[in-house]
Amino acid sequence: MPTGQAGGAPSDALTAAIACGECEQWNLPHAPVRIHGDTWYVGVDGLSSILIRTGAGLVLLDGDLPQSVPLIEANIRSLGLDVRDVRLILVSHEHFDHVGGVAALQRDSGAKVLGGAAAVRALQAGQPTAEDPQFHSRPNAFPIPAAGMRAVQDGETIAIGGLAITAHRTPGHTPGSTSWTWRSCERGDCREIVYADSLAAISSAGFRYTGDAGRADTTIAFRDSIARIGALPCDILLTPHPSASDFWERVAARSRKSPVDPLVDRQACKEYAARALRGLEERIAEESAAGARKAGAGSR
Ligand SMILES: [Zn+2]
Repeated sequence: MPTGQAGGAPSDALTAAIACGECEQWNLPHAPVRIHGDTWYVGVDGLSSILIRTGAGLVLLDGDLPQSVPLIEANIRSLGLDVRDVRLILVSHEHFDHVGGVAALQRDSGAKVLGGAAAVRALQAGQPTAEDPQFHSRPNAFPIPAAGMRAVQDGETIAIGGLAITAHRTPGHTPGSTSWTWRSCERGDCREIVYADSLAAISSAGFRYTGDAGRADTTIAFRDSIARIGALPCDILLTPHPSASDFWERVAARSRKSPVDPLVDRQACKEYAARALRGLEERIAEESAAGARKAGAGSR
């Protein structure tokens, strides 16, 4: 490991760029945005990284792509904060575009890395687990953090410096998918923030959410995850892809001096869940139609 170099140097193995169809677009730089109280958006244009300042150091949710790390770290510095004060890195799900930067961020901060059990197994392997719907998609590999990883339990609350942040197991998009919730207060104005994980039923070719000879039906767990997110106390919805919760549109609407913060929307989690359920139903219908076609072809 090139420890003699400044974090983010081009020759740094842990920040070497992953190439993908949307990676360049996702990785466009963006100045940090204060979400509420001590919670900030420090990610790139198309991939969220959320920073929470606590009385005992910083907490970071998601590390984006490896090549996002210099941009995330520059955003943290621009807030007058120090990357070395990041104590915890929490992850949403084990895909390269959300955990690709975790190894470099962990190295630069010494933070502990926490996520769902399958996400931690994936981080230890440098790729998703075999049951992941996108296991056979490429790219899927990402740098492996050195150490200090731990799986969280469903409903586990992590307390640090006055912050209490709770993990909710929400499998479906991946086996390790985890959503995170915390309460943010700013001069007596308290808001429930939900970092809801991706709920898109996207897979590699050949994967069936409804199961097949070698795999169990995952749609029951997926529906349960969607229902859980829809039922969470939710004033501000954040998502690993900011576009999934209209983050930039809401932030832009703020600057037009709206009397109410457009990021505060009590219906946002319910609407996010409703959209996800429609997507899953469409996918199940496609799978059953394909299954019927196959059965028809087989009988001829
Ligand atoms: Zn994903």
